[in-house]
Amino acid sequence: MDGEVAQAGGDTIFGKIIRREIKTDFLHEDDQCVAFDDIEPQAPVHFLVVPKKPVPKLSDAQDSDEKLLGHLLIVARTVAKQKGLTEGFRVVINDGPMGGQEVMHIHVHVMGGRQLTWPPG
Ligand code: ADP
Repeated sequence: MDGEVAQAGGDTIFGKIIRREIKTDFLHEDDQCVAFDDIEPQAPVHFLVVPKKPVPKLSDAQDSDEKLLGHLLIVARTVAKQKGLTEGFRVVINDGPMGGQEVMHIHVHVMGGRQLTWPPG
């Protein structure tokens, strides 16, 4: 998997976090992904699940990334439970400029701990 871990060229802040060049407390780490609290939380609980493979956005994902994408949701579920989100939570993947994605390294937002409303902005 090492060859797929985020590298310097065209890198984002999440690559630096994954390589521990920026100190971040991980809520979860395994060979495929990390999870950490969002620096600008939009809810009492707001964390991100980020694959080590630097897929820029969901629309760039390959069919062969199916297992990896499923794994991100399983980790989202596990960490949400650890965070005590027993009454529900929201999972969001922003894609590209129109989707409001700013960091071009695919990530799953998990938010909870307050009543969330719909639709989002
Ligand atoms: P948006 O910023 O519009 O939510 P994204 O979907 O690309 O766009 O989300 C990027 C997320 O990464 C934001 O919620 C932002 O607060 C978070 N973020 C940026 N830098 C860091 C960091 N160093 N540590 C943790 N979270 C970060």
